[in-house]
Amino acid sequence: MAEIRELTVTEARARVLAGVGPLESETVPLLAALGRVLAEHAVSDIDVAPFDNSMMDGFAVRAADLAGAREAAPVALDVTGAVFAGEDGAGACVVPGSAVRIMTGAPVPAGADAVVMVERTAVLSGDGGVGSRVALAHAPDVGENVRRRGEEVEAGGVVLRAGEVVDPAAVGLLAATGNARVAVRRRPLVAVLSTGDELVSVGDRPRAGQIRDANSPMLAALLAEAGAEPVVLGGVGDDEAATREALLRAAASADAVVVTGGVSVGDRDFVGGLLGELGEVYCRRVRMRPGAPNTLGRLGGVPFFGLPGNPTSAWVGFHLFVRPVLRAMAGFATVDRPVVMARLSHDVSKKQDRAYYVRGRLSSEPGGLSVESAGPQSSALLTAAHRANCLIVLDLPAGLVPAGTFVPCLRLDVEEGTP
Ligand code: AMP
Ligand code: MG
Repeated sequence: MAEIRELTVTEARARVLAGVGPLESETVPLLAALGRVLAEHAVSDIDVAPFDNSMMDGFAVRAADLAGAREAAPVALDVTGAVFAGEDGAGACVVPGSAVRIMTGAPVPAGADAVVMVERTAVLSGDGGVGSRVALAHAPDVGENVRRRGEEVEAGGVVLRAGEVVDPAAVGLLAATGNARVAVRRRPLVAVLSTGDELVSVGDRPRAGQIRDANSPMLAALLAEAGAEPVVLGGVGDDEAATREALLRAAASADAVVVTGGVSVGDRDFVGGLLGELGEVYCRRVRMRPGAPNTLGRLGGVPFFGLPGNPTSAWVGFHLFVRPVLRAMAGFATVDRPVVMARLSHDVSKKQDRAYYVRGRLSSEPGGLSVESAGPQSSALLTAAHRANCLIVLDLPAGLVPAGTFVPCLRLDVEEGTP
């Protein structure tokens, strides 16, 4: 049997990420851009705000008229007009000694250079509208309570730069600036394939010797969460010809391929050998637990991830190898989630000299973070993965890791780029 090359996790990650860059861009309706990376600068077609407007309900004034005004010595002005949001305000004008009643969002009338909020005023006569006389108990600065035309961005100006992630605030900015469609990086299309003669799908009841395919739906979910588009191809039996055909079909139809099972050294594990025959193998093992037999490489010009069949091993392999590559393809600048140090709250016994990725739960304690196992750590069990919010990285020699040790934890509950 050919020697099987084993890489460390760091080496394997560097290998899968080498040369991976953003996919081409596509133009999508504004809301479809949410969570994606801008491929081009977004430019405004108008000044935003489009006109000087009031930030308050109150009175538009000339700041010079109110110099020295205060609670004990208010200044009285005549109300000569009123402007409401949605009006053009062309009819109103503030001349010395007068004020114009103004509502939030209404255009600041000619002659005015500040707005005094209604709470700082009192009606002396009339109803507070046109023809009234009001006392203003505040001396505003020039520009006070006025949103300036072009304050956010001027017409033709860049409102968001290429590479920025479209979050809900960005959607608002793009809407205000007339960007009904935006150029973003394409989402990677990822083919998902499960191998194994024992697999039946979720809608079927397993007969003797069979189990349900947990990996295809789980990987589809992991991919969707990572911002990729899963293409679930279903299952293929442990048959070399059928697997060859399925792998080629997967690589031809997607930007990346994720296969589970059949990556080890069993008599019907064909994935590693086939990748060697059809594509390029970076490694067939990684010095980690769970899930050492990761077959990583390229097939048909796209990244290929052969993950172990045990569901938790596949889940860990996805987080360590697949997700960073997909983030790079989707154009994100940061492909690593944050690693935090936390105090281990119980002993962990390491039987092997390989890096352990313990499904853990981080919590806050006075003065820092603590972390504990999220449950039984067998690679066949998914419950601890479900409960986990981090992977505790124990890249230490075999032996006892005592409670109280500060250990690095790869957070899974936050996006890449979170400080
Ligand atoms: P393999 O990597 O093919 O040797 O599979 C390792 C273990 O994972 C075996 O016990 C398989 O039955 C199990 N397994 C493989 N594929 C899946 C799957 N899609 N869903 C759930 N368990 C699986
Ligand atoms: Mg198998």
